[in-house]
Amino acid sequence: ELLVNQIAAGEVVERPASALKELLENSLDAGARSLSVELAEGGVRRMRVVDDGGGISREDLPLALARFATSKIATLADLERAATLGFRGEALASIGSVARLSLISRQADERNAWRIACEGGALTNVEPAALAAGTTVDVEELFYNTPARRKFLKSEATEFARCEEAFARIALSRPDCAFGLSHNGRRSAHYPPENLRARAARVIGDEFAEGAVDVRSEGAPVSLTGLVAAPGFTRASRDAQYLFVNGRFVRDKVVAHAIREAYADVLHHDRHPAYVLFLTMDPALVDVNVHPTKSEVRFRDSGSMHRFVFHALSRALAEPLA
Ligand code: ADP
Ligand code: MG
Repeated sequence: ELLVNQIAAGEVVERPASALKELLENSLDAGARSLSVELAEGGVRRMRVVDDGGGISREDLPLALARFATSKIATLADLERAATLGFRGEALASIGSVARLSLISRQADERNAWRIACEGGALTNVEPAALAAGTTVDVEELFYNTPARRKFLKSEATEFARCEEAFARIALSRPDCAFGLSHNGRRSAHYPPENLRARAARVIGDEFAEGAVDVRSEGAPVSLTGLVAAPGFTRASRDAQYLFVNGRFVRDKVVAHAIREAYADVLHHDRHPAYVLFLTMDPALVDVNVHPTKSEVRFRDSGSMHRFVFHALSRALAEPLA
């Protein structure tokens, strides 16, 4: 069981940033409105995520750390229309198999919090603990028991930069939530709940946010909303390409291509534009279960998705010119 979890961990948690992404997604799935992250030594030495979400009951704490014991999917039909970011039920079990993990949680109607820990795959008993409503996950000494993987990690600065990027993606996807990030005791980001343009100003920069063009093609079964760079904005734009499909950050060639085509067509501009775009659709139209980290998707009909994005973006880009 430990070995199976460690193998799964290789797919889900490659490095601190991928563990952080899973923890933040769990907090959002639990309805958190405020998420705070503390990292030490690039997230390898320690990673703590504190949220104010719905919490986990005492009985469910051991299940949260058991492989495939997700609370989110009961049937194959649920999988087809998964509205949560997580649904495989392997992230916490995987992280727990390659780090010292502790989980403290309190549901709003409980008198106290409960704590469980996992070290080398073995669970402790559930003990009472002190915590405001919500959940705190502590992950220490990532890969301490898988030295080969630990050796594969890059410098502290590089691992932290990747954590920052994972954090930025999640923070951009939910401007309505508050986020905090600190590293080695120093505050690195602090975002209040705000609108997308304000959040984009903090994450991508004022220059992008001030000139960015609104995209607003809302409808059924697909809609595209968000911000795309004004034609003049070119700084570091290749890195600032954020696409969220049903709330989840993904890289997708079909959509990226449609965006470039629209820029080329309307603005005769062939650079990689910066954008923060939300593509929302009926979950039956997209398969997110392609890759363990869910960073790739497969559209049921990629041709019509390409056309939709191209037209939505062309309209948005043409508007300021009209
Ligand atoms: P998944 O997200 O795919 O269900 P995980 O291993 O990431 O699987 O989490 C296992 C379960 O633990 C979740 O289904 C959820 O019930 C619970 N859980 C994890 N993190 C939190 C959190 N921050 N708040 C509330 N429940 C959580
Ligand atoms: Mg999860």
